[in-house]
Amino acid sequence: MKMSLMCDASGCDHIEYVDGITSDLIGKPCPKCGENLLTDEDYKESMPIFAAWKIILAMGIISSPDDPRSEGTLVEVRHHDGETTVKTKVHKP
Ligand SMILES: [Zn+2]
Repeated sequence: MKMSLMCDASGCDHIEYVDGITSDLIGKPCPKCGENLLTDEDYKESMPIFAAWKIILAMGIISSPDDPRSEGTLVEVRHHDGETTVKTKVHKP
């Protein structure tokens, strides 16, 4: 599963893909504009969602895009400013 950190500075569309939301990403600056990509609040809000996805992945309901054996639906989770976006797409080997 890939999660993404999205820059919300106006006019900046930088998206950073990460393997998971970890505390060391808090305060990470946008490489384009220097804006904070993950606030402490974003981090706290995304933790339960991230934990839920890890359980779903572990149960094999959906596959991680990084998994070479992955088949079926791929899922990308993005959390920013209190909003969670989930994108799914069908994996075609
Ligand atoms: Zn930016």
